Amino acid sequence: MGTRIIPYNNGEILEWRWWAESKLISFQLFASCFLIDGLLIDSNAPGSEMDLQKYVKKLGGKNHISSCFLTHFHEDHAGGSPMLKKEFDIPIYASPLTVPYLSKGYKYRFYRKTYWGRHGQKPIDVEPVDGPIITKSGKYSFELFPMPGHSPDLTAIIDKKNQIAFVGDAIMHKYGYTFGGSSPDLYEDISQIYNSQKSLYKITDGMDDLKIYVAHVGEVNRDFIAEKIKEIENLHKNAHKFQKELINNGYKKQSKILKEIVKKMWRKGELLQFKILSMGEISRTNLVATLLKWPLDN
Ligand SMILES: [Zn+2]
Repeated sequence: MGTRIIPYNNGEILEWRWWAESKLISFQLFASCFLIDGLLIDSNAPGSEMDLQKYVKKLGGKNHISSCFLTHFHEDHAGGSPMLKKEFDIPIYASPLTVPYLSKGYKYRFYRKTYWGRHGQKPIDVEPVDGPIITKSGKYSFELFPMPGHSPDLTAIIDKKNQIAFVGDAIMHKYGYTFGGSSPDLYEDISQIYNSQKSLYKITDGMDDLKIYVAHVGEVNRDFIAEKIKEIENLHKNAHKFQKELINNGYKKQSKILKEIVKKMWRKGELLQFKILSMGEISRTNLVATLLKWPLDN
């Protein structure tokens, strides 16, 4: 295990990173939560529980962290929240869309256990919020901004006056694979991801100082959203172009077409290690499938 604290915005915002260390992992991933004026955004993974407890205790518990908002139900974001509630009585908030996913908790597959902890997502009573979230001192007021696609419930929060946004997993570092395949609860819809990013870009028009905090990435600006929008547009165009070519060349079977497109789009082809380890939950094939499901003229 490892932890790291990263300050942003002159120390007004702290990112708390946590990662697992295991011999089974050849590719390390960290999960994050962000703290701004007593508001914690997300709560890291179930495996981070003990470390997060130490960190919150050191800060002063509920005196320091007065509330926690979850951007979506995934375990690497909601995992620490049952402990925050139980040990510190910190209220946990989320969009009404997120609440039902967490009321019973859930189990997840082996590879997610190696990254995010063995015990699965414990149930947690989350309080639904619709209106603005005001931070402890009253300095920041965040409105909820739905950004579905990565998960159906994903909700970003934005303080337009101070030009700060927390978007969870609504933006990824690079689009080279998606969740999906045999796991309907983790399915990512690339057209929705794209539309959500376009909406965020549009409503933040003119906010030249906007700072966007992205889980698994860190701090980015509006140019980064523009870059991702372009990246997805190119992937979309290419997937359809290659599909057309393959059909013209006599390819009929969809699984074969997907496989060939993956080979054409990425020099190294499919991420076999990832695909096998995740039992198909993560793959380039999933990304191509969701790109093709999205009509070109839309
Ligand atoms: Zn997620």
